[in-house]
Amino acid sequence: MKKRLKIVLHFSKDTWDKAVICDLIKKYDLIVNILKAQIYPRMEGNAVLDIEGKEENIKEALKYLKQLGINVKPLELTIDREEEKCVHCGFCLPACPTNALYMDMKSREVKLDKSKCVGCGACVLMCPLRIIYLPI
Ligand code: SF4
Ligand code: SF4
Repeated sequence: MKKRLKIVLHFSKDTWDKAVICDLIKKYDLIVNILKAQIYPRMEGNAVLDIEGKEENIKEALKYLKQLGINVKPLELTIDREEEKCVHCGFCLPACPTNALYMDMKSREVKLDKSKCVGCGACVLMCPLRIIYLPI
């Protein structure tokens, strides 16, 4: 059965130069779309991949990446917010279709419920301080 998923690879100073994309395609017969990559010589880096292929091949490919020492996580479709910089102005609130961003009436602070966020990105441009980011 075919499967498709988005993953984030974290490379260490020792694994930055592993030719994993080539191996994922050739050895595991996967379709690989690189959504984002920040890889520098002898430094930590990361790459966001959209991969598609047979379920068993994906399973083996993930095992292979882990064996190489590359940390693999599923891509979370939620925003990141620099909480400490938020001034709780509320500009982002009307943009959020799921109420993942909401006003806590007790503390009068704008809070984020990540479990409700669908990663639509509507809030990102609304923030005057630009402290909201999508993962890719
Ligand atoms: S990305 Fe969309 S769902 Fe998530 S907090 Fe922002 S506006 Fe709400
Ligand atoms: S718009 Fe930005 S600063 Fe204002 S409440 Fe939302 S995240 Fe905080």
